Amino acid sequence: MKVLKFGGTSVGSAERMRALPQLIVDGTPKIVVLSAMSGTTNALVEITILARQGKTVDALAKIDLLAKKYDEVIAQLFDNQQNRNTAKEKIEPIFALLRELVQGVPTLVQERTILAQGELMSTMLQHLYLLEIGVNAVLLPALDFMRKDITDEPDIYFIGEILKRDLARYSDCQLFITQGYICRNHKGEIDNLKRGGSDYTASIIGAAIGAEEVQIWTDIDGFHNNDPRVVQNTHSIPKLSFDEASELAYFGAKILHPTCVLPVQEAGIPLIIKNTMNPKAEGTRISNETDNDGTIKAVAAKDNITAVKIKSGRMLLAYGFLRKIFDVFEEYHTAIDMVSTSEVAVSLTIDDDKHLQDIERVLQNFGTVEIDRNMTIVSVVGYKISESNGIAGRVFNTIQNIPIRMISFGGSRHNIGFLVKHEDKKATLEALNNLFKK
Ligand code: ADP
Ligand code: ASP
Ligand code: MG
Repeated sequence: MKVLKFGGTSVGSAERMRALPQLIVDGTPKIVVLSAMSGTTNALVEITILARQGKTVDALAKIDLLAKKYDEVIAQLFDNQQNRNTAKEKIEPIFALLRELVQGVPTLVQERTILAQGELMSTMLQHLYLLEIGVNAVLLPALDFMRKDITDEPDIYFIGEILKRDLARYSDCQLFITQGYICRNHKGEIDNLKRGGSDYTASIIGAAIGAEEVQIWTDIDGFHNNDPRVVQNTHSIPKLSFDEASELAYFGAKILHPTCVLPVQEAGIPLIIKNTMNPKAEGTRISNETDNDGTIKAVAAKDNITAVKIKSGRMLLAYGFLRKIFDVFEEYHTAIDMVSTSEVAVSLTIDDDKHLQDIERVLQNFGTVEIDRNMTIVSVVGYKISESNGIAGRVFNTIQNIPIRMISFGGSRHNIGFLVKHEDKKATLEALNNLFKK
């Protein structure tokens, strides 16, 4: 069994949905995970924000706009009027629910229910289209099996048990369609795996059922060596190790959800990235194998980073100081990405500044606190590069005109990270692109 995930652009129009069967119907067993059509989750996020602000009329106007888009998709997708009617009958209650949920300020669970509708619509439409063209496919509702435990981690055992039971129930069927991104939390409420989370769904399913391979189909021909949205002349990398890919995804390479590598890595299942618009392109194979040990493979950047510096004379020769500082971040459930220390100061970075005010207030008990917002972590990644002579020298030589606020070296064997101001990000990524010139 293979798991194939198609992102928003890959199902982004009626035309794309009509083209999908060519990639998924070949008589071999598959679970196909679909994102919402591109633009839908963004629209649903905007709708929840308007509803939260009590702007019901504006929220309703946005819902009407989205409903119109889906009417057009339905008209173009199906050849058969009967199927158009069936699709309309299935989509109307979804829009009725959205309209109902924005009548007042939605609760958190109601907001998540709004966000879940994109994947529910894309999978319903694609499934119906497969039936129209005579393909035997089963729609597996992700809300029946994709469950997070009390620590917010996927409950792989439960997911595997339910899925295996369902696959056995439909043993005459080769093709299963399910929703990415959406899940239930330990209370059974509708929840999600965070933005971009459909990659994570595919990886979790792959690990839970022991799939042969997980494929991520997107709008670019593989994992590139630098961010193609920022830098020109990037190229696809044929092979990456799990460690390299997870460092890159965690540190900003948008092509993969930050936590999507771990489940397949633990299960030893290869993760293949392919381009829906150019299926013949080789793509990227992420597995335990890598080539060119000790060379730089790729660069990624993570934005919206806040740097926090605590300066204190009391740190000098004191033990337990760092623990007290870290305890503050733990108390406020805020993950730390980078750390660097000197005799009298410690600098660290966070990407979630929800509790920053409280954190700053408590840290002031330990010393002077300085906060720098709008920073970017740049990561240079390659298998064991931090153990390779001269690499750090080459990296920092290349960006000698760019002010660096922090450096992280040696924490991971595969990553050299540093912090720059967001306004220097483009120049930094462009300069680092020279490292790949032969
Ligand atoms: P999907 O909707 O299929 O999940 P995403 O937009 O989430 O697609 O991810 C694909 C996009 O990621 C690409 O179009 C590209 O702009 C962006 N991207 C950022 N960094 C990289 C990288 N290193 N390699 C490839 N794509 C990248
Ligand atoms: N539809 C969700 C999003 O836009 C999940 C995904 O596409 O992976 O974030
Ligand atoms: Mg994505």
